[in-house]
Amino acid sequence: MKFTELDLKPAIRKALVKKGYEDLTPIQEQTFPHVLSGRDLIALAETGSGKTAACGIPVVQSVDPDIKAVQALILVPTRELALQYVDEIAWIAKETGVNAFAVYGGFSMDIQKSKLAHGVQILVATPGRLIDLLYNSPLRLAEVRYFVLDEADEMLNQGFLPDIEFVFSCMVHEHHTMLFSATMPEEIKRLSKKYLTNAMMIELIAAQKAPSSLSHYFEEVKPHQRFEKMLELIKTEKPKQAILFCSSRTNCEKLYDHLKKELKSVEQIHGGLEQGKRTSLFRRFKKLDIQYLVATDIASRGLDFSHATHIFNYDVPHNPEGYTHRTGRTARMGREGKAVTFFTGRDIGKIKHIIRANRITPHWIGPEPDLSRPAEKKKQYGASSNRGKGSGPGRGPRKDFRRRKTVKKPGE
Ligand code: AMP
Repeated sequence: MKFTELDLKPAIRKALVKKGYEDLTPIQEQTFPHVLSGRDLIALAETGSGKTAACGIPVVQSVDPDIKAVQALILVPTRELALQYVDEIAWIAKETGVNAFAVYGGFSMDIQKSKLAHGVQILVATPGRLIDLLYNSPLRLAEVRYFVLDEADEMLNQGFLPDIEFVFSCMVHEHHTMLFSATMPEEIKRLSKKYLTNAMMIELIAAQKAPSSLSHYFEEVKPHQRFEKMLELIKTEKPKQAILFCSSRTNCEKLYDHLKKELKSVEQIHGGLEQGKRTSLFRRFKKLDIQYLVATDIASRGLDFSHATHIFNYDVPHNPEGYTHRTGRTARMGREGKAVTFFTGRDIGKIKHIIRANRITPHWIGPEPDLSRPAEKKKQYGASSNRGKGSGPGRGPRKDFRRRKTVKKPGE
């Protein structure tokens, strides 16, 4: 279906033409009629499907620029996603008179308050900062007609459930809710049952779980060789742009320190960086001003880096979903992409699980490993055994792979 077949505001049509959007993506085709008719919606879809515009275009179409109050609220789990959302809505809304704004932690609340006071119709927010503003500013949600929960499963993973329930409790008036999630755990089902009315369910995950334009490479390495092996591959592959994922902030810093001595245009992004820095890195990477980004999973959810051609899993992701999210940063909208995962004998179990659960056809760099063999024990490749070996950052202790007990909210 073409955008010209929809009854959109001329200013939105103009923006879409300027941006080069002609055809709706499958998720847009399926969600638009329901969003425009105001039906509650649960969409099982990931980013890369065009879901930001799937909700952004109808929301911009539906809010009234003459009412100087928040009419659409979009909750997202991270600051980076908030920025991506608001950037996408800003160009759609550019000539409509509709104002979109994002609020998130780590940024001056006074500036956010004064912007809100000038009239914002579409507010994108991380849960913690939204609640701070509800308590400490005149911001109210009484005019909200559209409530979007993006990456709902990730928000629950991050421990935002009480915050989300609080926001729902602030919206006692009639409104439409759209919930986007990559998975449908029990908690999301319960949340939907409690707060959504007669919701339409749209499922688009299966079709895009493993895009055929994405090739999956795996290489078994000894812990002390990991850095050299990755560097070697980078030098042969010469990626146009790559993200190199680590499982902890410490590993990310170590890898960055080593990599910047070897390559030009390398930066790192993790939750420990000050917000202004994160925002600028994120925008520069999107614009292709940075070639290599060493990152924690902060960059794995939902972000649209359309230039990224390669994903390197320097550390194996925690689980199959983590793999899908990381590798989903490339091969977007049918483009070619390569994911390369480095693993050791200790990671055999995880690799097997990732390949099976994601129905991946693996390409092996080097000999194909026997995935049925038991995983090697900790002491063989423990932190102390590889310290000082090789020129790379070495491997951190096993605890780097464990889920933290106290979950830090990345949006805060
Ligand atoms: P998203 O899933 O929202 O992160 O979008 C993935 C990418 O698709 C982004 O670069 C969007 O700008 C782009 N996109 C979204 N909708 C369309 C469309 N209808 N036509 C062309 N590109 C699109």
